[in-house]
Amino acid sequence: MASNKNLLILPGDGIGPEVMREVRRVIDWMDRRRAVTFDISEGLVGGCAIDAHGTPLTDETMADAMAADAVLLGAVGGPKWDDLPFEQKPERGLLRLRKEMDLFANLRPAICFDALVDASTLKPEIISGLDILIIRELTGGVYFGEPRGIETLPDGQRRGFNTQTYTTSEIRRVAVLAFELARKRGNKVCSVEKANVMESGVLWRDEVTKLHGESFPDVALSHMYADNCSMQLVRDPKQFDVIVTDNLFGDMLSDTAAMLTGSLGMLPSASLGAVDATGSRKALYEPVHGSAPDIAGRELANPIATLLSFAMNLRYSFDLAEDADLIQQAVENVLAGGLRTADIMQPGKAKVSTGVMGESLLRELDKLAA
Ligand code: NAD
Repeated sequence: MASNKNLLILPGDGIGPEVMREVRRVIDWMDRRRAVTFDISEGLVGGCAIDAHGTPLTDETMADAMAADAVLLGAVGGPKWDDLPFEQKPERGLLRLRKEMDLFANLRPAICFDALVDASTLKPEIISGLDILIIRELTGGVYFGEPRGIETLPDGQRRGFNTQTYTTSEIRRVAVLAFELARKRGNKVCSVEKANVMESGVLWRDEVTKLHGESFPDVALSHMYADNCSMQLVRDPKQFDVIVTDNLFGDMLSDTAAMLTGSLGMLPSASLGAVDATGSRKALYEPVHGSAPDIAGRELANPIATLLSFAMNLRYSFDLAEDADLIQQAVENVLAGGLRTADIMQPGKAKVSTGVMGESLLRELDKLAA
């Protein structure tokens, strides 16, 4: 039985539109070939919205995002808008979306595709078969805590300060998500903080432990200090399934995890909000990379990060795990067939354009679904 999903697509700037063009072909393919149909609208965000409307995100587009079942975004920014004041920059559009949709959890998978095992700086046996998910708390912690500032002390020195703060509910809502997602994967959660030196870490560990006992005793829970976690991620990343951590540690650990598997052009992400009264959750899906102005318009961009972001959209917002798996398999097969965009090019492989990569992914989907 077909169900209509309301999807807002915001291609943005730079390579955003060209990678989204290829993903759009896959979305149209899904619409025709699978048991899901999409009501798609497109809008402007970032520099292109500034050019058209004088603001990086209009109220209308913001309202569309709030009404959508999910938002799929390309990337924003570029040198053309670099000299604008901070409040008017393209990135403000993205920040407004994240803030008003109250997206408190950032999900970054680190998956190693077999064909790219040699592209990592780590040994193949360490990362082959890797599939972990880092969940970073996104709206609390030291990046937002008060008081903050730079003050001048009586002796003339300057003092910079920020405050790490977390409340029970902030910790619990992101931990609930981690436990729920772990149940759909390897059923393991590793909660990461610095309870040895930070009170906010003691509270974090306490609340996650309590929640686990109350509602998720079936999920295996472990705790780890953030410094150890950064070592373990490069020593033996396959020991993890889901890692849940705060904003600051998550910022760093998710970048480390991302680089385990190679190029920016391969990395998807999701940002999720709370479940509302209708049972649905606000969600924004986007590649980790930016607008790559150095290669924009030259058919060099890798569309896979954005395509995998759409696969996350299918998995987490639309509960279509099979369709998400199908996309992942198509990516795996196309890479195994030796096709590479420039960013993941390896000796002996065939270098292809953005468009040819998109075309090949479509052909592979046809084969897999035949
Ligand atoms: P970037 O991610 O755009 O590019 C970094 C490098 O990776 C570049 O050499 C680029 O060519 C390459 N690259 C990135 N994505 C690629 C892809 N899909 N295929 C092939 N190569 C790819 O980061 P940057 O250069 O620091 O920033 C460029 C612009 O993007 C800036 O205006 C920045 O503010 C903006 N930005 C936006 C976002 C976002 O929209 N979420 C994130 C980061 C940066």
